[in-house]
Amino acid sequence: NERTFIAIKPDRIAEIISRFERKGFKLVAIKIMVPSKEFAQKHYHDLKDRPFFNGLCGFLSSGPVIAMGFIKYGRKLIGATDPQRSEPGTIRGDLAVVVGRNIIHGSDGPETAKDEINLWFKPQELV
Ligand code: ATP
Ligand code: MG
Repeated sequence: NERTFIAIKPDRIAEIISRFERKGFKLVAIKIMVPSKEFAQKHYHDLKDRPFFNGLCGFLSSGPVIAMGFIKYGRKLIGATDPQRSEPGTIRGDLAVVVGRNIIHGSDGPETAKDEINLWFKPQELV
């Protein structure tokens, strides 16, 4: 049972959850939190050498984030990284405008999903 980790800003939360549910993803963990800058740096550790790393971590830690775990792995619903290139019908294609604020994060593989769910959730917070 592969999983996906998703993090979004609180606007459009109901719509985004229902897009996953309609595709058969089962929600197994959800919480709202304001990640610290240090926490955001841990979450995006793979990107630490990229020029946008500091701004990206600043954005993630700038306000409340809804963290979610789903059973079933997939990234098609999310769309391409740059909303200007995301297909219509995807979350970023329909709801996002700029790459630095592309609304939603999704783990990039089942292994990463496991690591991210463990970073964001304690075992007792998971169904
Ligand atoms: P995510 O991991 O958030 O789901 P992704 O896997 O589509 O996004 P990554 O390459 O992992 O893309 O980049 C992580 C995040 O860094 C992107 O969601 C985006 O917000 C930001 N980012 C990526 N490329 C750029 C860029 N060229 N300029 C600014 N921000 C960027
Ligand atoms: Mg990524």
